[in-house]
Amino acid sequence: MNAFEATNTYFAEAAGHLDLPPAIEKLLMTPLREVRVQVAFERDDGSVATHIGYRVQHDNARGPMKGGLRYHPEVELDEVRSLASLMTWKTAVVGIPYGGAKGGVACDPGALSSGELRRLTHKLVDQIHDVIGPHRDIPAPDVGTDARVMAWVMDRYATYHGHSPAVVTGKPVELYGSLGREAATGRGVVIATREALAARGGSLAGSSIVIQGFGNVGSWAARRFREAGARVVAVSDVQGGVHDPGGLDVDALVRHCAETGSVTGMPGCDAVSNAELLVLPCDVLVPAALGGVLTEANAEEVRAGMIVEAANGPTEPGADQIFRRRGIEVVPDIYANAGGVTVSYFEWVQNIQQFSWDEERIDRELEKVMVDAHRTIREVARERGLALRTAAFLLAIERVRDATMLRGI
Ligand code: NAD
Repeated sequence: MNAFEATNTYFAEAAGHLDLPPAIEKLLMTPLREVRVQVAFERDDGSVATHIGYRVQHDNARGPMKGGLRYHPEVELDEVRSLASLMTWKTAVVGIPYGGAKGGVACDPGALSSGELRRLTHKLVDQIHDVIGPHRDIPAPDVGTDARVMAWVMDRYATYHGHSPAVVTGKPVELYGSLGREAATGRGVVIATREALAARGGSLAGSSIVIQGFGNVGSWAARRFREAGARVVAVSDVQGGVHDPGGLDVDALVRHCAETGSVTGMPGCDAVSNAELLVLPCDVLVPAALGGVLTEANAEEVRAGMIVEAANGPTEPGADQIFRRRGIEVVPDIYANAGGVTVSYFEWVQNIQQFSWDEERIDRELEKVMVDAHRTIREVARERGLALRTAAFLLAIERVRDATMLRGI
């Protein structure tokens, strides 16, 4: 099953509880627009590199479309479709006034110099500037992109449409970015985990946490988990992982990673592979790397009390069924990692208002959005006897359906 089919499986299960007419179900599943472009640029050695870029705009019933821009060798259309659809449901589930989109370029950003990445980004914007915009579709960072890339998007877009900082979020704080955006997804993941644990009478303090992925989301989540008194016992990146049942020194690990480019080789820890890491005993497993890592092949071996989906689409539907049967609660991506898009929304609001919020306000508003959304999802789950994921999808589909019908088709 590919990523788009997996997302549609979750969608269809929730839609089944809503008595949605088949025509409306089809409308809500079908992306509004799909753009596939050539991204060609000159490499530092004078040769020409040609890559394929995508922007999929899934739905705009609730507002301008919003979603990340991914630079990764495995970017392909079905995955971008899946991620765009997830954005529609994510923005709806946390109640921010956006639709969903996603984009990416199939490339290996680690193999490109900074100048090459800038030229690639400029070329991508040349190709898609007509379909994005502050009130149309607003990209943001995702795997392989960062604040620097967002600054290049903003700058290139301005050459066509004039000064428009609200065209992209996740910009550097010095250039119309928002305080708190970099850490927002990780921070949101920790709030989601805290709320989900509390619903079962647990707490972060003393809980053992395993995190796959130590990029933007994984590393910030690790820092916030530690600050909240949890024990981060294992983390990994694409090169492998490290494990210390007594709890890793997260700050030292962040420094080690900055110096060496990987968490591997951290002194005083045991080495683990990514496959081993996913089945380590822990209270909370946090996949924070790529999609499709929890499958029918490893779900029976998972020894976590709870799974919190920081990554988009980490759990395949077959694995999800196994977790339900085994009583392992899965806090779904469309809620768990919504902290990033929520603070992106705050950034967009600040850009449009031309007024900056302080960090305390960002944190307070993010806390409120994440806590309120958890309460609502949990209520729907309890009232209807559904898994959290189905409840979150159901809530989101209802909101998008209502906006669609109110507008008229
Ligand atoms: P990133 O590029 O900053 O980090 C990705 C991390 O995953 C790196 O540590 C990388 O080494 C690791 N990784 C890559 N391939 C791997 C593999 N095969 N096995 C194990 N580890 C691997 O990306 P990010 O922004 O932290 O995004 C991580 C996930 O969170 C993605 O699924 C993304 O869609 C999702 N997400 C990100 C944001 C955001 O604000 N950045 C928001 C919502 C969701």
